[in-house]
Amino acid sequence: MNSGKICIPVCEATADDTIAAIRRAAELADIVEIRFDCLIADQLHRTIKALPDIPATYLFTHRPSDQGGARDMLFSERLTFWQSILNERRPPFIIDLEADVKLTMAVQTNNVRRIVSYHDLVGGLADPEHLFECVNALDPDIIKLAVWADDITDAIPVWKLIERARSENREIIAIAMGEAGKWTRILGPAHGAFLTFASLDTGKETAGGQITAKDMLEVYRVRELDRKTGVYGVIGDPVSQSLSPYMQNAAFHVGQQNAVFMHLLVKDLDDFIRRMVKPDTREVELNFGGFSVTMPHKQAIMRHLDEIDPTAASIGAVNTVKIDADGRMTGFNTDTHGFITPLKTRFGDLRGARAAVFGAGGAARACVYALKREGADVSVYVRDTKKASVFSDEMNIAVSQMSKDRPGEADIVVNATPIGMKGAFENETLFTADELLGVKFVFDLVTKTAATPLISEAAKAGIPAIGGIEMLIAQGARQFEIWTGRDAPIETMRAAIADRMK
Ligand code: NAP
Repeated sequence: MNSGKICIPVCEATADDTIAAIRRAAELADIVEIRFDCLIADQLHRTIKALPDIPATYLFTHRPSDQGGARDMLFSERLTFWQSILNERRPPFIIDLEADVKLTMAVQTNNVRRIVSYHDLVGGLADPEHLFECVNALDPDIIKLAVWADDITDAIPVWKLIERARSENREIIAIAMGEAGKWTRILGPAHGAFLTFASLDTGKETAGGQITAKDMLEVYRVRELDRKTGVYGVIGDPVSQSLSPYMQNAAFHVGQQNAVFMHLLVKDLDDFIRRMVKPDTREVELNFGGFSVTMPHKQAIMRHLDEIDPTAASIGAVNTVKIDADGRMTGFNTDTHGFITPLKTRFGDLRGARAAVFGAGGAARACVYALKREGADVSVYVRDTKKASVFSDEMNIAVSQMSKDRPGEADIVVNATPIGMKGAFENETLFTADELLGVKFVFDLVTKTAATPLISEAAKAGIPAIGGIEMLIAQGARQFEIWTGRDAPIETMRAAIADRMK
């Protein structure tokens, strides 16, 4: 257990909503932040009066919009607010003053702890070290710096300030905002940050990248992490849709592993590997143990690896990286295992079976490789044969133009396209029930709890089918085994996915 705290901000317009939210937040959080700037002016005093009845450690904030607050406000309004709060409320509570010389000079107290904060809402702050010094000069008890990050490495400078504060025996809250900075919110307390913010509910975030308190506590187990925690994550762009964190963290939890798995938004892969991963060039020590790799990095990651497992080398794509204690990186492809394991369980022996794979992307590569290895007779269909010529050459297989009215002479139909996936093709199907007649089995790689249109059509035709979740779980289980050397708790992983997809 680390000493960092979870703080839930409450930002509501009315006193009733604020009070209701504080009651719920107090049950989960170590500190409840009341964002007084969110309240309509005439609701302020009723809220303050209600606070003694709700026991909690409070952080009071009254933030103007240029620092990420809810509205513009004059200096005089800010000063009046702080004077009245300090007169009306008995400590203990913490206050958050923006890094403003006039304000910090005017609001002096002996018995209340002061955070002095600075928020860089657009990113690209030139010199966070200088900012640290400027904020420190305003005599805070706790320094708070929050900067916007577009890519994972944008968070490095602010993260390094946690290390600096630790070495100078200062208390700090250092956060990178946005999806790319989520890791700083999860790992901050383990590395010495005074607190990390978490939202009360989805949709109640007060800054980009905030994770719900429930997920912080139950999925990421933020309180239990320490500097020795093995750090894993899915690297890609985008990554927020990935279900892997829920499945892998549940597995780490039942296996009592000191490990955490996060979404890692990586745009510039080379920069990420150089500045955050490779032992001789990295600028931060996060204790990475491995990655799940998703689009668009499955091929680009290969040039950074010290070793590539023969299956991944044959497919030409890596979806799993294991990092040894000495920093040596090995690449694997668990999509093959994830695809073929549930298919063999349900279909049986694949020797001689005619399999029609639709699509020629990364997933199709793994499917074609696995099907060929099992002795299936594989055909690949694409919408653009010219575009698929590299696939055809590298996988040593002919590709044909997709036909709209039938899947060819196939026993097994595999959808390795995004048709049926959330988004533009959500309600489309590769084939209707009539067109599927004669097919013995359908595997739709699209990950959805509800049946995809293709799976519904298969059901109408009485054809057995499985969806992408089976593949997701099987490939994730194999990843867990590669990273930990232990059997994967598959049922726990399945339950975590089902729970998340409710
Ligand atoms: P990808 O590399 O982008 O490849 C997609 C393939 O589908 C390409 O050949 C593309 O053709 C084709 N395609 C795209 N839109 C199409 C359309 N409207 N009609 C016909 N063909 C179309 O993607 P991927 O990583 O291989 O993923 C493919 C599917 O598998 C996705 O639905 C993904 O979610 C799923 N998947 C599932 C798992 C799992 O664990 N369940 C794992 C990996 C992937 P063009 O080249 O012409 O665009």
